[in-house]
Amino acid sequence: MTSFENSIAAYKEAVKLMPGGVNSPVRAYKNVDMDPIFIERGKNQNLYDIDGNSYIDYVLSWGPLILGHADDTVIAALKDTIDKGTSFGAPTLLETKIAKLVQKFVPSMEMMRMVSSGTEATMSAVRLARGYTKRDKIVKFIGCYHGHSDSLLVDAGSGMATFDINTSPGVPKNVALETYTVPYNDEAAITDLFKRHGDEIAGVIVEPVAGNMGFVPGHESFLKTLRKLTEDYGSVLIFDEVMSGFRCDMKGAQHLYGITPDLTTLGKVIGGGLPVGTFGGKREIMKNITPDGKVYHAGTLSGNPLAMMAGIKTLEQLNEEKYADMSAKLDRLCTALKAAADKNGVPFTIRHRGTMWGYFFNNGPVENFDDVQKSDKEYFTRFFQYVIKRGIYLAPSPYETSFISTKHTDADIDKTIEVFSDAFANVQK
Ligand SMILES: *Cc1c(COP(=O)(O)O)cnc(C)c1O
Repeated sequence: MTSFENSIAAYKEAVKLMPGGVNSPVRAYKNVDMDPIFIERGKNQNLYDIDGNSYIDYVLSWGPLILGHADDTVIAALKDTIDKGTSFGAPTLLETKIAKLVQKFVPSMEMMRMVSSGTEATMSAVRLARGYTKRDKIVKFIGCYHGHSDSLLVDAGSGMATFDINTSPGVPKNVALETYTVPYNDEAAITDLFKRHGDEIAGVIVEPVAGNMGFVPGHESFLKTLRKLTEDYGSVLIFDEVMSGFRCDMKGAQHLYGITPDLTTLGKVIGGGLPVGTFGGKREIMKNITPDGKVYHAGTLSGNPLAMMAGIKTLEQLNEEKYADMSAKLDRLCTALKAAADKNGVPFTIRHRGTMWGYFFNNGPVENFDDVQKSDKEYFTRFFQYVIKRGIYLAPSPYETSFISTKHTDADIDKTIEVFSDAFANVQK
């Protein structure tokens, strides 16, 4: 029997000191009627908790760890770097090196700025779009999550969806009013909005492959419509690839779909497990950033040498072969899980692109946030509690995406198929 005794005791201490006992809300396991599991360490595809349980990890720190936990090369480079000092607040060669590397994957980023989180990247990109166009309105899509800055915390996914919050208290009404929200994958709705308000719209921000309302890939025609409308109306198209970058395709969704945005935001994988985000794009737009221009952006720890090194050593190890291998593993996993669900009469939709995968407990199609919400949330909770006790570590919310790393093996896939199949057969429907 799996015991969580030490985690339960640890949580009792933590809740006295931090809201929900955690530093980011979905970690609290409130949504799955459990106390969170406290982690001791991770190595490659596995996590180990403070009760001595081990897991095959499909969360991977919510996306960043494409090489798995504590990759030998990344760790060795970090140890080397730390001896030289942890922060200088002055330029280093590492910043130029990572910028060049990023450009190899995402050539549309003619110039970029490093920041310390995805939230900072999207917040800065939105400010830049506004400063550049001299307009105020931003468009986002319902169920997409772009971090927790005020303008973007409206009808958002991830924890906002998990805890059923439309607009966070504390976001001024007037700020929320500057953000238009439109259903995802809805070409008619966005076209109509541009017809009425196109001249006021500074920018459109979108997860081209959405991963924060569960996993919902954008339709190619929808994304092409966004490109066309923003061009026609002189608005900035921002692809938020904080999650999809280096994930749905080695070169991001913009490569997968062949659509070039004006600005791109990256995060997660780019930091290799350390706090990094990036925003960048067309030179003509980026040169409006201080000190070249007047749109303010700064950061005490931006471009931090440890974070840059973790990113560099992660990106350097990526290649098409590894992506093909991860994608083939997910193909096998998704096909087998769908068959197992069907056999047991469990309503189930499952998909993957590249190294991202996701499932819904409904028969689909799942193309937007309304469809996502037709999933069976109570079944998800029971299912989650079953599989975690059998050593499969999934995000504790039906509004999140799952990932795979280069370290997951065929045996891991077999074990996962076995546990999911047992869950479909045994968890009360
Ligand atoms: C995770 C995420 C963010 C926010 O990044 P943080 O590093 O958590 O601030 C923004 N956009 C997308 C698409 C994300 O998945």
